[in-house]
Amino acid sequence: MPDKERPVYDRVRCSHCEGAGCLYCDKTGYVLVRSPATICRHCEGECCIYCGFTGWAGLKGKYDE
Ligand SMILES: [Zn+2]
Ligand SMILES: [Zn+2]
Repeated sequence: MPDKERPVYDRVRCSHCEGAGCLYCDKTGYVLVRSPATICRHCEGECCIYCGFTGWAGLKGKYDE
């Protein structure tokens, strides 16, 4: 494996539960997304399948390699 720059992640509040903790954020109320944190362009933060129902684009785990 070639040396690769480590992706940087931002900790953002889960839009699905607004920080209360839910299935999608592992009950933490927060999720890690690729920096700079960007609202999901498919739903604009309303939560959809593309953002794993967190309202954020680049969710860690889903797209990391
Ligand atoms: Zn949540
Ligand atoms: Zn979305």
